[in-house]
Amino acid sequence: MHFDVIIIGAGAAGMMCAAQAAARGRRVLLLDHAEKLGERIRISGGGRCNFTNRTVSADNYLSHNPHFCRSALARFSQFDFIAMIEKRRIPYHEREHGQLFCDESAEEIIDMLRDACDDGGVKWAFPCAVKHIERNEGEAVKRYAVATDNGSFSCQSLVVATGGMAIPKIGASPFGYRLAEQFAVPVIPPKPALVPLALAPELLEPMKPLAGATLDAVAQFEDAQFRENVLITHRGLSGPAILQISSYWQMQEYRSGKKQPVEIDLLPGLDAGAWLEEHRQGRVHLPNLLAERLPRRFAHEWCALQGGEKLVTRPISELSRRDLETVATRLNAWPLMPAGTLGFAKAEVTLGGVSTDALSSKTMEAKAVPGLFFVGEVVDVTGWLGGYNFQWAWSSGWVAGQFA
Ligand SMILES: Cc1cc2nc3c(=O)[nH]c(=O)nc-3n(C[C@H](O)[C@H](O)[C@H](O)COP(=O)(O)OP(=O)(O)OC[C@H]3O[C@@H](n4cnc5c(N)ncnc54)[C@H](O)[C@@H]3O)c2cc1C
Repeated sequence: MHFDVIIIGAGAAGMMCAAQAAARGRRVLLLDHAEKLGERIRISGGGRCNFTNRTVSADNYLSHNPHFCRSALARFSQFDFIAMIEKRRIPYHEREHGQLFCDESAEEIIDMLRDACDDGGVKWAFPCAVKHIERNEGEAVKRYAVATDNGSFSCQSLVVATGGMAIPKIGASPFGYRLAEQFAVPVIPPKPALVPLALAPELLEPMKPLAGATLDAVAQFEDAQFRENVLITHRGLSGPAILQISSYWQMQEYRSGKKQPVEIDLLPGLDAGAWLEEHRQGRVHLPNLLAERLPRRFAHEWCALQGGEKLVTRPISELSRRDLETVATRLNAWPLMPAGTLGFAKAEVTLGGVSTDALSSKTMEAKAVPGLFFVGEVVDVTGWLGGYNFQWAWSSGWVAGQFA
């Protein structure tokens, strides 16, 4: 059974690529080891799929080459995907930070992509496990031999769209990385990203009374900062601001082994030092003052955590200037050293992956392996929370679909 293009992984990038290649008249086989098509699309955005963002640029992505994603994002932009959604008459709405969601169901996006594949005559194989792949050197047409538990196939172009490692129980596998290594395409070790952060027991124990508190705060790490909710959990920190900053915190490990803490600004937009100074002469207690701007229970527990009894029991006027300065610094930059992350089981995406150095940003083809393409999350391009990861899947899949 010969095809022009075989695509492994029928997720967001794989389906987009298949539909595009088929629309060019290529004979395409799309295979996946999962029972259900597009499972990650189905469960995304609480079942409504945050399919893209109103504003997308390379600044919304982390990669060892931050410029790599520019070309694909420009050639198939968020506006191109929105146009597809509108042509299909899928109702959608915008939420904060430009995030676009389906009004009704993520299934509508899966149906749209499946129909686009069917229109071009894409052949499907799922569930279908790949046993091994060989490259036939010197062959111009039957370059790749793909042995599966559904039979053996050959193709001219092989597209790897097997995604990252997040949530293995819904079909994530390291297959794409292993295949890259088989063809000497370098892989940057994958790490969980957009992931809750764990705290060590000595920090977690005193923070236990704060579990469940949600704060409007800024999570900061190096130059990155995100103002959204921070959630304190019984295992550490979560909520959108923490998920966003976790990717940057994980990125530092590639640069140096020495970990730095993340910082939480509990009073965004407010100079805590100046604010405390205004109340310096008053009889108000610090927890009560903080409760004007933070959840009351949190304000009390946080003060106890910072300075023991005196911050809770004495009025501000009886606290030393030094104590107040320390409190002010910590209110605007509360340093918390994560012990690690909650891992791929709880991550939304994967940092690292197939090195962009080895790929053409114009085509997504491996520079040294003609006919071998990598698209979507398997590549070392990781988006922020907010529809950016799907946009990368659509853009990279679309681009490869023009050349595979
Ligand atoms: C819970 C959750 C919610 C998310 N919500 C959002 C959101 O709202 N917005 C957003 O932008 N991003 C979201 N993401 C991230 C987004 O889902 C991914 O970045 C995106 O799906 C990546 O697309 P992909 O095609 O590269 O990979 P995937 O969509 O993961 O598809 C990969 C496909 O390859 C198949 N596969 C894997 N290994 C093999 C193998 N060995 N053989 C055959 N097939 C294989 C898998 O079964 C899967 O179908 C979410 C992720 C999770 C986990």
